[in-house]
Amino acid sequence: MPVFIFIDHSEGHVKKASLEALSYGAALAAQLGTSAQGILLGTISSNPAELGKYGINKVFHAAQESLNRLDAQVYARLIADTVSAAGDSVVVFSHNTSGKAVAPRVAVRLKAGLVTGAVALPDTQKGFVVKKNVFSGKAFAYIAINTPFKVIGLNPNAYAIKEGTGSAQVVALTASVPPSKVNVVSVTAASGQVPLTEAELVVSGGRGLKGPENWGIVEDLARVLGAATACSRPVADAHWRPHNEHVGQTGIAIAPNLYIAIGISGAIQHLAGVNRSKVIVVINKDPEAPFFKAADYGIVGDAFEVVPKMIEAVKRLKS
Ligand SMILES: Cc1cc2nc3c(=O)[nH]c(=O)nc-3n(C[C@H](O)[C@H](O)[C@H](O)COP(=O)(O)OP(=O)(O)OC[C@H]3O[C@@H](n4cnc5c(N)ncnc54)[C@H](O)[C@@H]3O)c2cc1C
Repeated sequence: MPVFIFIDHSEGHVKKASLEALSYGAALAAQLGTSAQGILLGTISSNPAELGKYGINKVFHAAQESLNRLDAQVYARLIADTVSAAGDSVVVFSHNTSGKAVAPRVAVRLKAGLVTGAVALPDTQKGFVVKKNVFSGKAFAYIAINTPFKVIGLNPNAYAIKEGTGSAQVVALTASVPPSKVNVVSVTAASGQVPLTEAELVVSGGRGLKGPENWGIVEDLARVLGAATACSRPVADAHWRPHNEHVGQTGIAIAPNLYIAIGISGAIQHLAGVNRSKVIVVINKDPEAPFFKAADYGIVGDAFEVVPKMIEAVKRLKS
């Protein structure tokens, strides 16, 4: 039962979440005593053979430039065809935006059991049981997959990247690319900013900042740290910040290494989108703010006094 891993990339670079999925897939293959094989659709700036250092033996590569843009239906077809040719297998995706779009489609094509939001390697002692987050990270569920094909969506930041020295055999995927049912008219990429879903560091502001005119301190702290900016929902609803910065249950779910929340109360709907962050720092003038319960570090104080001091401290540290 080989393990296949979908290799997600953007602007020529394999995404960090995908490197985690490769490491996870390689460890799973070792656990099952089988091989780990990547599937790469489109082109990347480095040699795909180098992905062997994340523990995979082979990379199936469809190098057509037209595949650089994610088309979930086309991707699902190519991945399902490649996997089904190998017989019973496990397919690993990162549970990021691309994985969320493609994994369920692949599962349908393969008639596979699907578990998304996985947070650990499956228990394969008796059957195939995957641990996943449920209720916005408040509990775990253990789901047994009983179908011959199995599809897993791994939560970003749930499995550490393991880098070695190996090299992968690159096998050209020659299957013809099915015609797309989607006609993309234009693409507008956010420029000059770290994309929120990829960011290692995020500085986020809430209603405690009083108005859009005060966002300078959030942006300045983000700039000195090299972080992306985010916000709570009421802030986006009030048009203080664009909606693509809104994190939470109804916004983007993120899992950075560091999340700094400034003037955000920590409502459960906000936490649902940020509680997978590795380290959470909360700055709030109310010591009773619920966010402090989820924080690794808390600063009780006025954001307008605390944040400028933090900016100066980071500048000093960097100089
Ligand atoms: C179905 C549903 C879905 C939702 N989805 C989301 C979602 O996806 N994301 C989301 O964020 N919310 C969501 N919400 C809204 C959520 O319930 C909260 O209302 C919202 O998160 C509160 O935003 P806030 O913390 O910025 O504002 P407030 O709750 O108004 O909190 C402001 C905080 O700033 C602090 N503060 C004030 N002044 C200062 C100062 N000078 N210095 C430091 N701290 C200060 C206050 O003590 C307070 O804790 C949803 C709600 C519902 C019902």
